[in-house]
Amino acid sequence: MRLGEVRVVKHDATTPRRYDGQSTPGPRQLALPLAVVTSSRRCVALPILDERLRGTKFVSLEAKSVLNSPLQTGVDFWSLNPYIGCEFGCTYCYARYAHRYAVERAHDAGRLSDEEFVEFRGPHGWEAFEQRVFVKHQLLGALEGDLRRYWRSLGPTARPATPIVIGTATDPYQPAERRFRLTRGILERLARCEGLNIGIITKSPLIARDTDVLLRLQERSDLEVHISLTTVDVALIRQVEARSPIPAVRLRALKRLADAGVRVGLIVAPVLPGITDDLPHLEALFQAAREAGARFVHAGPLRLYSAVRDRFLPMLEEQFPHLVARYRRAYEGRSGAPRDYARALAARIQKLQARFGFPVKEGMADRCGRRLAPAQQELGL
Ligand code: SF4
Repeated sequence: MRLGEVRVVKHDATTPRRYDGQSTPGPRQLALPLAVVTSSRRCVALPILDERLRGTKFVSLEAKSVLNSPLQTGVDFWSLNPYIGCEFGCTYCYARYAHRYAVERAHDAGRLSDEEFVEFRGPHGWEAFEQRVFVKHQLLGALEGDLRRYWRSLGPTARPATPIVIGTATDPYQPAERRFRLTRGILERLARCEGLNIGIITKSPLIARDTDVLLRLQERSDLEVHISLTTVDVALIRQVEARSPIPAVRLRALKRLADAGVRVGLIVAPVLPGITDDLPHLEALFQAAREAGARFVHAGPLRLYSAVRDRFLPMLEEQFPHLVARYRRAYEGRSGAPRDYARALAARIQKLQARFGFPVKEGMADRCGRRLAPAQQELGL
């Protein structure tokens, strides 16, 4: 089975449902109707929408609100994530904490039994993020209320609009989107607004499916699509990202969007110290971005939050044992990269931006003060 294919385990033909809150289409419009398998033990159990042969389950979770304000998250933009969990399974993914929180809340609310709670956490506490993906139900209904809240927060004079970024925690075009189409539904709704400032971050070429909506959205609002790629080295990608799309297909999607006129660029995040931060790796990325028609390239170093350590450090021990001590030292008592390292990386990125003809954006180094001279190859932690 290829990524993105979903095996339907059961179908109740009398109750076709869409999980994006849109009107229910007739059965002929749905190639493979969604299955709703509910537990016979408790009527409040979370419905399982679908299941893959390898064991991934897609679980419906009602969304009362989907747009998180800067006040809620502490960042300076609004964020939107249609899914909780992600099958791509990157070892450095920091969104595992949000999945853990959703599982704990569902358990506390009596919607997961003790047994399911253990299953939803997995033996190491991180597996469920990749294998139990929550699909936000009634998303568009929740978005209507959130948009009213958003417009109210801007007031009559606040322009340009505060950005809304889709995909800050989980990938909005992960394989589940092929079936559930939540992200497409959101973009169609946002395309009916004017004067928005939208960012989308994804690793998936599936975004090219929605080129038509992106172009419509771009007519009335500012749009920036960030294709996420940490290296063009396929073998290396497979060491750190379990099931993500290979670099070539991401770059091809970038080119398709660029050729269609979508404002699209590359986001290199996280840069992994000692693994992907050397000049040959970064130059190859910048070169590939240039050839694909990217308008910009941004980059930032790894953040090693506690929820990331459980997954990332065992991988590091297995694949890059010579780096373990360096990482432990550098990230001891902190989640962000050491300040000097962040500055040196920012300087290196800005040099590359200039050299490859991209806008030189002030990055995280400028928030940290004086810049250091960049190292020539691998950056020291
Ligand atoms: S694609 Fe993004 S959300 Fe998905 S596992 Fe990787 S980093 Fe996390």
